[in-house]
Amino acid sequence: MQSLFGKTVEELRDIAGQLGLPVYASRQIADWLYRKQVLTVSEMTNLSLKNRDLLSERFVVGRRPCIRLQRSVDGTVKYLFHIGAPDAAIPQAVETVAIPEAGDGGAPASRRLTVCVSSQVGCKLGCRFCMTGKQGFHGQLSTGDILNQLVSIEEHDRVSNIVFMGMGEPFDNTDAVLSAIRILTAEWGMGMSAHRITVSTVGVLPGLKRFLVESSAHLAISLHSPFAEERRSLVPAQAVWPLSEVLTAIRGCDFGHQRRVSFEYIVFHGLNDTPRHSKELARILNGLRCRINLLRFHEIPGISLPATEEASLLRFRDSLVAKGIVTTIRASRGQDIAAACGMLAGKGE
Ligand code: SF4
Repeated sequence: MQSLFGKTVEELRDIAGQLGLPVYASRQIADWLYRKQVLTVSEMTNLSLKNRDLLSERFVVGRRPCIRLQRSVDGTVKYLFHIGAPDAAIPQAVETVAIPEAGDGGAPASRRLTVCVSSQVGCKLGCRFCMTGKQGFHGQLSTGDILNQLVSIEEHDRVSNIVFMGMGEPFDNTDAVLSAIRILTAEWGMGMSAHRITVSTVGVLPGLKRFLVESSAHLAISLHSPFAEERRSLVPAQAVWPLSEVLTAIRGCDFGHQRRVSFEYIVFHGLNDTPRHSKELARILNGLRCRINLLRFHEIPGISLPATEEASLLRFRDSLVAKGIVTTIRASRGQDIAAACGMLAGKGE
């Protein structure tokens, strides 16, 4: 059985054609999948019984419930989902993190909720500070697997923002990620604003260039050092897609209006937080309307990188602000359940 969930309206039109359904059935099916979010074909009641039977012979909706969830003391929830074919002998698993706006523990359900979604099982790119990278690569998520993380969580009806910052490098799975963004934002899909979506990348240029043209979602670049050799020691992808070329691609895109670009920067004490670093960051980002988000390093077993100290983190932020760069310190959320930045591992049972 194939899954319908994750198919674009064009793919649904092809399926309708193959089964002898009218063309307009593709829009009806998309509406049931993405707006009404039904779990079975039999619930698609504006299709005739005969057409529902034809569809059910070869297709299922294909949504997956979560197989485990953990709650943090700060209100963050980490979900574990199986991915791939429901009948796979050894199912793979990925983690998804739902992060309520700070201070939301038990507050009314109208508050903003950001969902951090995964795009791959593991990752090939091996960033030194990242638990997912340490695991190696185990597989790609389909478009349906990506979207399922948003609709199959308890808080699915209050998702305000989506960040592709979970497991995997989104632009190492570009087709599925762009397709998911399209379904999220299309009027026949979920109808969300692209400005509620942010995709984070280390700068995989072929996918990044497509994203800049094919989507208007926000962009976040994992920066971590403005110096090539130093960045390469933290982010090996620097050797293939240098930051200088990534910045050139970004400068060719209009980030002056509603679309935003930000730079993620994990601060390692004494390593990438010196006056030399802030000076070079100001130089390479000069003239680009952007923001730097400073993050604390969450220690990972077997990785010897120095976590930042609060005083030097503040000092580094102030030095960037003094150079005219909008800089914020991102709060660590869900650290007690290993849901914070760089900690996701997708360990299933
Ligand atoms: S930080 Fe992102 S790109 Fe780097 S290893 Fe982790 S998941 Fe992969």
